[in-house]
Amino acid sequence: KPKLDNLKELMSTRLPESTYQLLKDISKSSGESHVNVYLIGGIVRDLFLDYPNDDVDITVEGDGISFAKQLVEDYGGTIVSHESFGTATWTHPNGEQIDVTSTRLEYYARPASLPDVERASLKMDLNRRDFTINSMAVRLNPRSFGKLVDPFHGQQDLRSNTIRILHNLSFIEDPTRIFRAVRFESRFNFKMDSQTLTLAHNSIGRIKDLSEDRMIGQIKALFNDRAPSKAMLRLFDLHFWRQFDIQDECRESSTIHVKQLEGIYDRVFEEEYTINWINYFAIPFYQSEVLDKIEPYLMSRGDRKFIQDVKALMNQSELLEMETAWELHPKLKNYSNEAILFFVTARPDTNAEPIVDYLVRRQKLVNYLTGEDMINEGYKPGKYFRNILLALEVAVLNGEVDSRESAIEWLLKNHSKS
Ligand code: ATP
Repeated sequence: KPKLDNLKELMSTRLPESTYQLLKDISKSSGESHVNVYLIGGIVRDLFLDYPNDDVDITVEGDGISFAKQLVEDYGGTIVSHESFGTATWTHPNGEQIDVTSTRLEYYARPASLPDVERASLKMDLNRRDFTINSMAVRLNPRSFGKLVDPFHGQQDLRSNTIRILHNLSFIEDPTRIFRAVRFESRFNFKMDSQTLTLAHNSIGRIKDLSEDRMIGQIKALFNDRAPSKAMLRLFDLHFWRQFDIQDECRESSTIHVKQLEGIYDRVFEEEYTINWINYFAIPFYQSEVLDKIEPYLMSRGDRKFIQDVKALMNQSELLEMETAWELHPKLKNYSNEAILFFVTARPDTNAEPIVDYLVRRQKLVNYLTGEDMINEGYKPGKYFRNILLALEVAVLNGEVDSRESAIEWLLKNHSKS
């Protein structure tokens, strides 16, 4: 296929109608304001790939904020602007949000004078981006609407499924790009070219310079994207896990663990589910038994609880010998499905069946009676209620009780009122 130098056709066929109309509107305003305006970043890449993306980012060669104000004058809506960055977010009357930036600003502090602000060209803006496939722009001005600006040959790299940095210091300059590279690899089934891969590998130590927040942000984005298991294994190639004292030998057991984990979710849950990112982050730690090292990175209470549960389960290997709900329920009732599944899939030789069977039943567990019901039936209140209600839950799990009536019958038959 010949290379495209104009994306008008792709834009009109691949973008939602309303987005295309929006770009035409922006185009009209750009003509009237005599500034160069471009569609830029991920949406351009995704137009080629026919991958859904309605994140409209535009950049203005000139003053982005006054252009955003012009858009409000022409079409309504509101803007929020950040003067020092020269950026604005325009909220269209239909609710869509469009980010407007100025091709980035340069600050030259001169002695004894206020910093000078100079606007860079589009080329300089593209120059600062991460990968060639993310460094393309589409001109929106009426006379050249749809013209592709692609100084780094991103189109060619898209065709050969390649993630390529723009210059050799890229990962040193910003180590979050290493995670982004892996994310795009797994999302699109692309590969870093050999030089990019080598540099990613050589710069991996720099991730230690990132704040915990930023690093976790990147890891979450990576493992919440497509093909997270692939990304987790790719990080072994880059020696990412070594930064946490997880040795390469864990790769094999992590591969098995993740495969078992993904397989088992389908069996336990009937409805759609997504495996939370923390699972993919935790697998290599679990396999090398350095699980404690993960905790400083976890900000959310839910994530910390998951790790604490997994650690508690780890010390109860007798659970793996148990077969009945009667044995399992009292031990497992306070643990989440997630932690239990993580634990039960961790060792290849485990017979997970009884626990999986228990979890499938547990999802449908109904509490037919409360302590109050027992009092109404004439039982004297006391701590022993708890044990009876627990036994009732097990009876429900075993299918012996399946309604309120049968629960009362079960209660009266099995427990005297003394
Ligand atoms: P996604 O679909 O994940 O949002 P995206 O490419 O749109 O992908 P954003 O994080 O929204 O990702 O970034 C928008 C654009 O900004 C990118 O396409 C890229 O050109 C640039 N960019 C983002 N992060 C970086 C970075 N760390 N270094 C350089 N350029 C970046």
